[in-house]
Amino acid sequence: DNAVDWSRVRADFPLLRREVNGKPLIYFDSANTGQKPTSVIEAVDDFYRRHNANVSRAVHTLGGEATELYENARRKLARFIHVRPDDLVLCSGTTFAINLVAYSWALPRLQGGDAILLTRMEHHANIVPWQLVAQRTGARIEVVELLPDGSLDMDMLRAKMTADVKLLAIAHVSNVLGTVNPVRGICHEARRRGIVTVVDGSQALPHRPVDVAAIGCDFYALTGHKMCGPTGTGALWARREHLEAMPPFIGGGEMIREVRFDGTVFNDAPRKFEAGTPNIAGFAGLGAAVDYLDALGMANVEAREQELLAHLNEELARVEGLRIYGTAKGKAAVVSFLVEGAHAHDLATLLDIEGVAIRSGQHCAHPLLQWFGIGATCRASLAFYNTHEEIEAFVAALRKVRGLLA
Ligand code: PMP
Repeated sequence: DNAVDWSRVRADFPLLRREVNGKPLIYFDSANTGQKPTSVIEAVDDFYRRHNANVSRAVHTLGGEATELYENARRKLARFIHVRPDDLVLCSGTTFAINLVAYSWALPRLQGGDAILLTRMEHHANIVPWQLVAQRTGARIEVVELLPDGSLDMDMLRAKMTADVKLLAIAHVSNVLGTVNPVRGICHEARRRGIVTVVDGSQALPHRPVDVAAIGCDFYALTGHKMCGPTGTGALWARREHLEAMPPFIGGGEMIREVRFDGTVFNDAPRKFEAGTPNIAGFAGLGAAVDYLDALGMANVEAREQELLAHLNEELARVEGLRIYGTAKGKAAVVSFLVEGAHAHDLATLLDIEGVAIRSGQHCAHPLLQWFGIGATCRASLAFYNTHEEIEAFVAALRKVRGLLA
């Protein structure tokens, strides 16, 4: 291992000490949502105990403190991904962030004859908003398919970057396969061809160092709850020129400079996209989450998770009749699998009795499972706070419940 004492890190996560069905919890569902360290839980608690007030609207002390916590989260998050705070719109998560691009950037610009390029491995949050845009503008959707290992077919991607493609929306890391897409090369290539790029960073930010400026995309969407932060927090980074050109998506207080019945003057970006009272407590927590990950070091987090993944793969390779979906080189610690003769939901249900939390189903990626020709998979997704002992206990439990189903 590297310089970090991972058993002490694990102790920072109180939930991981609980039992489920009388067994020590093994939480292998971090791709769904991540667990929270004490510092994040305390930051949320401290906000309501000591600082609770609304942002920006009040001149009193508490209002100033609340605003400071909210704006600090913006600054910390911006530094974490190497962008300017003023180009970061805070919102409820990736789903909102992508919808903001769909409604404010794409809807007014796209028209019949235009194409939106997606990939087979996208989460529904990076499919459905584009379908809504396509329906309303007459644009069509094109899909880049995968190679058998679950990596992108790069030849097809290049072939599909035709002159009518206005926008490419792509996951940085797949939530089902763990595939890490070479978004930097892809976004630079797209930019040369005048294609605007949207990168869904939901599954990347919690697990590896991410330099959004270096990726060279136009938009980068992220969600806080998978990166140790509270639910209902997230952000959209966008190139300044887009932020200035885009109309507001949601109207209300905070996003305006002056309101008259004969016309309203909007605030500057990013505030013109932040109408209404935000999740202030959540962002106080997200600021603490960024501090926590920063202190661990994302390169350490990545190395730790790669080590756990190698161990998990090694153990699973010895389980007879088990097939893994997504084996691309350099993949993240997300393992989708099926076991011959056992339905995914049955396995997950029986594993829960053993204290193991994994996800079963389609993982908000119906088109991907259709491509594999299967109805569901089991998905074990790891985080740095998991342990080698848990991996061994998980595989032992898997063998046991599989025996019950045979
Ligand atoms: N994209 C990917 C790749 C995801 O894994 C998720 C969460 N499962 C989302 C988008 C949606 O994130 P949220 O629900 O936080 O908006």
